[in-house]
Amino acid sequence: MDHQRWMSHAVALAHRSPRSATAFAVGAVLVDERGTEISAGWSRDIDPLVHAEESALLKAAGDPRLATATLYSTLEPCSKRAHRPDATCAALILAARIPRVVIAWREPDVFVTCEGVALLIAGGVEILEVPEFAAAARAVNAHLPGV
Ligand SMILES: [Zn+2]
Repeated sequence: MDHQRWMSHAVALAHRSPRSATAFAVGAVLVDERGTEISAGWSRDIDPLVHAEESALLKAAGDPRLATATLYSTLEPCSKRAHRPDATCAALILAARIPRVVIAWREPDVFVTCEGVALLIAGGVEILEVPEFAAAARAVNAHLPGV
């Protein structure tokens, strides 16, 4: 699995996100075990509140490849969410039974304290980090105070 290639793609997707003063700009890609893209999403791409991982998962709903897929996200999946408290990305990933998540950047305590990685690990999801992409994932959010 080419983590650099896919995370680079996720960062490019994050740049498409309409900027918000109250939410991160994130990119996410779902990749099957053969290294083919299943779906992709970015913050607020299909509605004004949707998260990148949520969007990618919605577009891939029912796809049998999810059982062996890897989700690339520029940001740690959320564990608290103001507008959709029952649909955090961590919960959606667990519900979709995604076995592996690769992230570039741990969520800083700007809006909430994120426990996404801990929740996913507790749920049996393998977490890989590619911290060499953290600066690029963060740079998309340079407009947010505290980032
Ligand atoms: Zn989220």
